[in-house]
Amino acid sequence: MKMKIRLVVLKTLSIVFLVCLTISKLVGQNIDSLNLAKESQHFAFYSTRGDIEVLDSLAITLENNYSRITNRLGIQIGNKINVRVFPNLASFHAAIHYPDAPDWVVGSSIDDELLMVTPLNPGSYHTYKSLVQVVVHEFVHIAVYYARGGKGSTPLSRWLSEGYAQYEAGQINENIRKIVKTSLTDKTPPTWTQLDSASAMEFGKMNGYGLSVMIVDFLISTYGMDRLVLLIKNPENIEIIYGLTESTLEKQWIQYVTHEKRE
Ligand SMILES: [Zn+2]
Repeated sequence: MKMKIRLVVLKTLSIVFLVCLTISKLVGQNIDSLNLAKESQHFAFYSTRGDIEVLDSLAITLENNYSRITNRLGIQIGNKINVRVFPNLASFHAAIHYPDAPDWVVGSSIDDELLMVTPLNPGSYHTYKSLVQVVVHEFVHIAVYYARGGKGSTPLSRWLSEGYAQYEAGQINENIRKIVKTSLTDKTPPTWTQLDSASAMEFGKMNGYGLSVMIVDFLISTYGMDRLVLLIKNPENIEIIYGLTESTLEKQWIQYVTHEKRE
């Protein structure tokens, strides 16, 4: 029984383990092996022939979420966004210059380009369905990139970047709420600064994704979406936007997660 619970927990955690590595340049043979295979209103899809059949589903998902996310952030993107779909994890990991990446690393955004492994071959951690959420998650990162005018003057906290992307992609569920609640009840969680300074892999291992989406859920539920969008655009103004210090917000977040009553 204990083993079963552990497996369920692992599976739940794995769904939010995406990793969006920051990579400055994308070059190499793997990119060249993908050809322009489909265009939709706002996206251009590059894939191998074997993955053409999955592009319709990705395009519909992205277009269905496009206006909601760009309107929320108050942006218009003038060009089509490139989506590169790799046929397997090995070619995707090679393209992001991370050949030894674990199997839960399945999607990435590099400035205004979206890269992912095909939902038809998602590896051992992910599923077709979770990969279709990943494409929205990665698009949110790109939309945020545009909303901040490129990199922005102050770097975006990892918890804010990953938390918001998961929130908009619908990657929050009761299992994640329970896991985070248990982890916050059992021990002192990492501070928001500690989440921010962790490496991409450390962040994944410390359940940074689960913690981050619960921080964003707390901020939106308590203070509204408008302030969160302001924070994304000017994270250095956190105290002005919320009228509270970050450490006070952190305390409120822990109370929100551990005491919240949900039916
Ligand atoms: Zn991400």
